[in-house]
Amino acid sequence: MRYQSTQSKRRFLAGVSCPKCQALDAVVQVNITEPNLDEYIECTKCGHTEHRPDPDAISAKNHLEDQLARDAMATGTSGTVKFKI
Ligand SMILES: [Zn+2]
Repeated sequence: MRYQSTQSKRRFLAGVSCPKCQALDAVVQVNITEPNLDEYIECTKCGHTEHRPDPDAISAKNHLEDQLARDAMATGTSGTVKFKI
């Protein structure tokens, strides 16, 4: 296991059990800034890692998808592709 303490923050999630091995209080939340800003959970018992669905990230993603859907409708390309010559 590698530790890059300057680039990652780890904190134990009390009362959280590992989704894989079910170990309680063995799951840490890891925040990294390199190479990209990311956040995931890691089990210190079995090494299982998993991205947590973050409510903020989900709403941001939904917002983005809404915008893409609106863009698609605005250009009239939902299902059919029109070529302008
Ligand atoms: Zn585990």
